Amino acid sequence: MILDIINKKRLGKELSYNELYEIFNGYLDGDVADYQMSALLMAICINGMTDDEVFALTKIFIDSGDVLEFSDIPGIKVDKHSTGGIGDKTTLVIVPIVAACGGTVIKMSGRGLGYTGGTIDKLESIPGYKIDLSDEDIEEQVHKIGCVVTGQTADLVPMDKAIYSLRDVTSTVSSIPLIASSIMSKKIAGGADKILIDIKVGNGALLTNKEDANKLSRLMKEIGKFYGKEVRTIISDMNVPLGRCVGNALEVLEAIDVLKGKAKKNSFYDLCIELATNLVSMSLEIPDDEARNKVINSLNDGSAYKKFLELVKFQKGNIDKLKVSDKQYKLKSNISGTISRINALKIGKLAFSLGAGKKEITDKIDYGVGVKLEKLVGEKVKKGDVLATIYYNKCLPEIKIDDIYKIDWKNVLKIWFYVIIIL
Ligand code: URA
Repeated sequence: MILDIINKKRLGKELSYNELYEIFNGYLDGDVADYQMSALLMAICINGMTDDEVFALTKIFIDSGDVLEFSDIPGIKVDKHSTGGIGDKTTLVIVPIVAACGGTVIKMSGRGLGYTGGTIDKLESIPGYKIDLSDEDIEEQVHKIGCVVTGQTADLVPMDKAIYSLRDVTSTVSSIPLIASSIMSKKIAGGADKILIDIKVGNGALLTNKEDANKLSRLMKEIGKFYGKEVRTIISDMNVPLGRCVGNALEVLEAIDVLKGKAKKNSFYDLCIELATNLVSMSLEIPDDEARNKVINSLNDGSAYKKFLELVKFQKGNIDKLKVSDKQYKLKSNISGTISRINALKIGKLAFSLGAGKKEITDKIDYGVGVKLEKLVGEKVKKGDVLATIYYNKCLPEIKIDDIYKIDWKNVLKIWFYVIIIL
């Protein structure tokens, strides 16, 4: 009985595979109501799950759809997933790097729901870029150029799509066992041999503390072991946006700057190197040091950028037509000092209000809008300096600088104090 299953979890008891199967498949078949599944999800959120329950749930998710298999493609196929964050465009940089280094990447990405687009939305800001490749297209492309970035097909873990939509509106997204089974089921069904997970922590992420990130990391590695797949995890900061740009076309341009070796070395650059190093090491089975050298060389000798252009061309994108909005507003500092904080969540909300993200899957994204941070944390600014450029189209929302930036003016006072003493 469905009610008994919900009640058992409410009391914090362990559910069997059969009980989980009955209620989750019942939901997918329309026999279990939204409110019943919502109650179960909330009970899971509050009481957690044992490892055995998470393994069972992951299997139920995987079995709900197709499981892809790419054994005809030579080499170790690697895939990477991020738990999501503001300005996270690492896929656009690391996939071509790994392929340029001789690795093989089959990357299935999702669309974003929330403040900004997902990787697929970012790639769709390149006019013509095709995201609905068939299994045959994927195989052919990976054979020829070593990488692919495509959307997930509707038949890949359909259970996750149904459950994720419900989690989104029942405040149950941040449950660690639910995140682990959602992500790992998609990665395993996607056919990767080895998997890298970037777990984000901070106010712009699903998880806000390191302890939870460690728990998620352990759980994902255990699921990997259960399926005989190597899983590596990286825990990275999401208190400030990643890099300078938030917004679809702007993020593609920022990724291109890194691939061309033109970007200043910041947190985004560092994370790309870290992720790409792990993927190259896993795909080529070489030590991390050797992988890191290959990664840096691919940026220095232009091969990573060349691979990016090849990837875009193969998927019918026209990079020359990528464009950002020509309406721009310069957000200027109202005081002098040193930037001590940029609020990732507030930047995400600002980008969303400009039209860079969508709340409903049917909403339309405005690819050309977004925010470019002209100054990053640790930089000194004078009153009147441009902090950020806002790319807008239809409307420019009211922006409160103090909500987004924390500018420390004490250092400026200290300097004046010493100047006065010296004089
Ligand atoms: N990303 C996913 O794909 N699933 C989650 O549950 C959280 C982040």
